Amino acid sequence: MHNIRMVDLKTQYENIKHEVDNAIQDVIDSTAFINGPHVKDFQHNLEKYLGIDSVIPCANGTDALQIALMALNLETGDEVITPDFTFISTVEVVKLLGLKPRLVDVNPETFTIDIDKLEKAINKNTKAIVPVHLFGQCADMNAIMDIAEKHNISVVEDVAQATGAEYNFKGNWEKAGTIGHIGCTSFFPSKNLGCYGDGGALFTNDHQMDEKIRTIANHGSKVKYYHDDIGVNSRLDTLQAAILNVKLKYLNNYNQARQKAAAYYDEKLGKLEHIQTPVKDRNSSHIYHQYTLVLDSSVNRNELKEYLKEKGIPSMVYYPVPMHKQSAYVDDLKSEDKFPVSERLSEKVLSLPMHTELTTEQLEWITTSIINYFK
Ligand SMILES: *Cc1c(COP(=O)(O)O)cnc(C)c1O
Repeated sequence: MHNIRMVDLKTQYENIKHEVDNAIQDVIDSTAFINGPHVKDFQHNLEKYLGIDSVIPCANGTDALQIALMALNLETGDEVITPDFTFISTVEVVKLLGLKPRLVDVNPETFTIDIDKLEKAINKNTKAIVPVHLFGQCADMNAIMDIAEKHNISVVEDVAQATGAEYNFKGNWEKAGTIGHIGCTSFFPSKNLGCYGDGGALFTNDHQMDEKIRTIANHGSKVKYYHDDIGVNSRLDTLQAAILNVKLKYLNNYNQARQKAAAYYDEKLGKLEHIQTPVKDRNSSHIYHQYTLVLDSSVNRNELKEYLKEKGIPSMVYYPVPMHKQSAYVDDLKSEDKFPVSERLSEKVLSLPMHTELTTEQLEWITTSIINYFK
């Protein structure tokens, strides 16, 4: 009836079909499938958009995080702090490189890493922090950069859900991912800037880091067939770069469309007694990769989800299992670490449909249905 989807990439494509189709055809005509000119173009366009010296495109967001940690020259046993409430990639790459993840609980309002608990988790082995700008809003980068500087720790921002968000860093509004030592993003189709397959990128303002990252992403090679480092093969497809070049032009519009939908949700749902709508940090813009409610203890999430489904409204749980409860990671836990907030969130969050093409009619149906549920 209302044809509501969690993410609607079909309508979005139809609105830019001509441009996207031409871009794809251009790549096929040129047969420059690997590292074609569109990749460099996209790199420069994204550098300009972000106001950063270097963007290094790569194959996906998980690779970006792995390459970033490889570029920091960490040693086996070094500790990397990540939030407990995130997508698995943030923690996975730490383990994969033989490093020790140190999980930290999150803030109950912004869902980003808890600053007090972060500082308490630091010890002499801590070498990096990977804050995640979850659901489209930046972690408390002012505090994180202060702590990092004080303890001489690197900061790798996970910007996969917040490409285009802005943060008031010590009085200047800067783009998410340009404040830490390295920023890592994903162009997975459903992200705020998404392509039509896999894609990712790293950002840095450090010239030496730029060279290091490029080398690692290219088999550890600066000169073809000569390998100074052990690297990986991680490239952004030319086809994906061509699509991203088109979509980057619309990124601000897309993020504004998400904000408009969120404002509608806020207005209709903000005063409901049993739900917490997204809380905005005054130092960050929020570009709503997800619009995520927190239900109070009286609300049965499954029941609400089923009710919405019957009304033709999809909803999702991001994330049902916090990192410290993942069986591959339980061995790394310190007995003193507790995660009451991420545990509660994993049981009580519910994300509503959020994308760039939501109509007022759809939003009205969604919000009215939720209001009626609580009547
Ligand atoms: C999507 C995502 C990633 C991984 O990106 P891929 O491109 O799927 O590898 C990493 N971190 C977070 C927070 C994400 O949401």
